Amino acid sequence: MSKSKQLFEQAKTVMPGGVNSPVRAFGSVGLDPLFIESGKGATIRDVDGNEYIDYVGSWGPLILGHAHEEVLDFVSQTAAKGTSFGAPVELEIRIAEQIIKMVSSVDMVRMVNSGTEATMSAIRVARGFTRRNKIVKFEGCYHGHGDSFLIKAGSGALTLGEPTSPGVPQALAEQTLIAGYNDLASVERLFNQHGVDIAAVIVEPIAGNMGVIPGRADFLQGLRRLCDEHGSVLIFDEVMTGFRVHPGGAQALYGIKPDLTTMGKIIGGGLPAAAYGGKKEIMLQVAPAGPIYQAGTLSGNPLAMAAGLKTLEIISRPGFYEALNQKAQHFFKEIEKFIAQEKLPLSLNYVNSMGCVFFKDGAVSGYADAVQSDTEQFARYFGALLGRGVYIAPSQFEALFISAAHTPEQLDFTLAQIQEVLMKIYK
Ligand SMILES: *Cc1c(COP(=O)(O)O)cnc(C)c1O
Repeated sequence: MSKSKQLFEQAKTVMPGGVNSPVRAFGSVGLDPLFIESGKGATIRDVDGNEYIDYVGSWGPLILGHAHEEVLDFVSQTAAKGTSFGAPVELEIRIAEQIIKMVSSVDMVRMVNSGTEATMSAIRVARGFTRRNKIVKFEGCYHGHGDSFLIKAGSGALTLGEPTSPGVPQALAEQTLIAGYNDLASVERLFNQHGVDIAAVIVEPIAGNMGVIPGRADFLQGLRRLCDEHGSVLIFDEVMTGFRVHPGGAQALYGIKPDLTTMGKIIGGGLPAAAYGGKKEIMLQVAPAGPIYQAGTLSGNPLAMAAGLKTLEIISRPGFYEALNQKAQHFFKEIEKFIAQEKLPLSLNYVNSMGCVFFKDGAVSGYADAVQSDTEQFARYFGALLGRGVYIAPSQFEALFISAAHTPEQLDFTLAQIQEVLMKIYK
């Protein structure tokens, strides 16, 4: 038995499903997870000594790849001085300044520990600021595991949401209204019916948790307009897209200013950090400046601030995104060409260094399209790539990330593996 398998058996006796986060269990591809021993650059090594080229990047944070020297050095220097004080440290100001410099809609920022905490806090702040209760979210968008987000559309004519997980109270679910991604008319209907009660609209400007589906510009502009007309807070959840698709986030790509932005993943440079921020008048309502309560024992933790700040500094250097995007565009365009040339029943969506191959014929522009994907074919594709040393996310509905550490040779090797695997599946 492999060491990964042995460890997984042990893990299942002490952790639910053997993991600390469900998708890690490889459940949707019917395999057992690999236990990882180490990572360097774009390569990870499992406990059995197998090496893989990694396109998961810890689900998004590792835009610089694993164990980046400068990040490690700064984290160890910081750690040597003590790991946590629960008192202000200067690094918190420096990362806040850096975020505000990079993301133009953010005047003030609050650091938290996870994307989930950022989105939970952002909707509380929006509710406290507007003194309204309802929020609008989109089918297929993921905002972490907060109660208000584990909601699907109610059946029939009801627009009120229903919980997707036991443990979420129906009374809370009714405060979440569900609209269709890239479907502005569905949002207009909700505003017509509930406008005066809607505190916030929260959206992934580029959806990355139902596969990758870019928001259409007119859709996102329409959300901005509807929120302005109805006095609602527009929240861009940029936990995945922030610092990924552009140094200023997806909002800079689209030229749209949300009122609040949630950030995570890259912002912590591989350590647990996330943030929410936005307009000064809203952020000044957060305690202790204002009455809306939100706190955290480890928020602004020096090690996480060090990893995040160093990462943000490195990606701000001239030419960083040009080089990353050029490399990624070449990779995705080659896949696109191959799909077209071989007339494969697949669809590829990508924005700069994030992308996704859908096992579905024809364009994927919303949740209804994404769920038509053939997840059994995906599972075969995943397993075959893994066997060839290519580690992608173990689910059809996740993004693939290119990091600055991927070498042209690694990308070319991966392209060849993808092509061979697809030919085996379809020809
Ligand atoms: C990953 C993610 C979250 C949740 O972040 P966690 O750190 O896993 O809690 C929220 N929103 C989006 C868009 C994400 O991609």
